Amino acid sequence: MAMDNLRIDGDRLWQSLMDMAKIGATEKGGVCRLALTDLDKAGRDLFVAWAKAAGCTVTVDRMGNIFARRAGKDDSLPPIMTGSHLDTQPTGGKFDGVYGVLAGLEVLRTLEASGYRTRAPIEVVVWTNEEGSRFAPAMVASGVFAGIFDEAYGLSRSDREGKSIGEELKRIGYAGPLPVGGRKVAAFFEAHIEQGPILEAEGKTIGIVTDVQGCSWFDVAFTGQDCHAGSTPMERRRDAGVGAARLIDAVDRLGRARAPAGRSTVGVVDVKPGSRNTVPGRAYISVDLRHPDVMTLAGMEAELRESAETIARNHGLELAFERIWHSPPIAFDKSCVDAVRRAAAHNKYPAREIISGAGHDAVYLSRVAPTAMVFVPCAEGLSHNEAEEANPDDVAAGCQVLLQAMIERADSSG
Ligand SMILES: [Zn+2]
Repeated sequence: MAMDNLRIDGDRLWQSLMDMAKIGATEKGGVCRLALTDLDKAGRDLFVAWAKAAGCTVTVDRMGNIFARRAGKDDSLPPIMTGSHLDTQPTGGKFDGVYGVLAGLEVLRTLEASGYRTRAPIEVVVWTNEEGSRFAPAMVASGVFAGIFDEAYGLSRSDREGKSIGEELKRIGYAGPLPVGGRKVAAFFEAHIEQGPILEAEGKTIGIVTDVQGCSWFDVAFTGQDCHAGSTPMERRRDAGVGAARLIDAVDRLGRARAPAGRSTVGVVDVKPGSRNTVPGRAYISVDLRHPDVMTLAGMEAELRESAETIARNHGLELAFERIWHSPPIAFDKSCVDAVRRAAAHNKYPAREIISGAGHDAVYLSRVAPTAMVFVPCAEGLSHNEAEEANPDDVAAGCQVLLQAMIERADSSG
């Protein structure tokens, strides 16, 4: 196959990552480029200039999503799309999101330099506000594209100063004219750093992402009675703090009983009134449950509720129990996952299947297009951190896999 001879330029990709990292660079070697700030505009402008120099047509939709398009031999076919985000966390790194965008750009540059024209068009997209750090929720613009949120909702999300996405898009010149979504995408691939420790620990270069785990968040509160720690006998107490402690232990066991995929976390504990010699009458905990299998996650949720009810009964407590957020597990498209697997095998890169622990724009895209992801290792699994680091060879390997998976898909289109 002609495409087998096409090689991405790892040095060019690395140089672009380092150039983009200068925009919003922090003293500790990270990047702070919050969505729709002047720095985000500068990053977008640089991407647009690079994409045009690579022979692409660039368009922007009403959510500020940027599409760099390389025409196909049959340009009426729906595009094969890749991309991610350029916005970062306040103490973000050089790779989270940016890698997926610039790996896509390197695919475009490789095609342009070789003169190779795919059958279906190729598009590289920059999704607006993936991080959700300045504007909640996360992944809002890919969510609008996929019809999860409506456009008015997306544009009206505001930061802490009350500035909306719509206003800030206009201010930086990225409120585009194109309608958001509503068109066919033949396939979506997203390259990303793993943001976890598995690939590095096992010496694998490529993560073939098969699933994204589901996640459910709960608020749980126990109410008993404040009373004197010295004069109240143990059997007369309604101790909300003990209720919380029993439930924290039960939550931990939910994940451990479903190793290795299960995850269960209590991240917030608040016990009131918070006095050394008063038995606490109120306790609040947050619960975060995750699992890639929808039925297993539902089972964890049911068990959590049962434990909370039993504990409340045994300790004479009132229970307030609410699921406040739920993101169902996603299984990526088998044919797209196989394309990633074939490209990794073809290049003899050490690879393994992996489940994404974090959310990505690809989660929403998978609702409207066959989708898969390519992971590369990051040092010590560290991300959302200024010390986030990746190896140039791994970064290049992930991009080579992306190139071949996309070409295979594009040339077999229509
Ligand atoms: Zn990301």
